[in-house]
Amino acid sequence: MITEQDNRFIKRAIELSEKGMDSQAGGPFGAVVVKNGEIIAEGFNAVTSSNDPTAHAEVVAIRKACEKLGSFQLDDCIIYTSCEPCPMCLGAIYWARPKAVYYACTKEDAAEIGFDDHFIYDEIDKKIEDRNVKFINLDREEGRKVFKKWEEKEGRVDY
Ligand SMILES: [Zn+2]
Repeated sequence: MITEQDNRFIKRAIELSEKGMDSQAGGPFGAVVVKNGEIIAEGFNAVTSSNDPTAHAEVVAIRKACEKLGSFQLDDCIIYTSCEPCPMCLGAIYWARPKAVYYACTKEDAAEIGFDDHFIYDEIDKKIEDRNVKFINLDREEGRKVFKKWEEKEGRVDY
């Protein structure tokens, strides 16, 4: 069920998408993180202004929210975003573990204005040797020694 609050928060995410765009921060995308009925963090796309390809609205908002909460998880949080998340943000959302995501525009709407992330979804399904970016496996055994140490590490913080 969509509540009055949900409508208010999604409107704020859309407002941020316009604010970011108008202030030359980046593309027209905004997001907020809500906990217990209150906005705890806001973000808009800042890719071009910060020279940060990962500065998508959702990632910006998630980073701020986690910093504020002093946690690497968004327990009981809800993300409202002006557009359906791209694969990177989708990954970030799953790692952050909010309880729900509300979005306004769809990824098809974004593709129509030149933000097509379909090529990334396509890459995920490909075999590693068939991907457009070259992925080369190197020194696996040496890398795995550190993994082994992690398994045996005392006082490690699992997540
Ligand atoms: Zn994204």
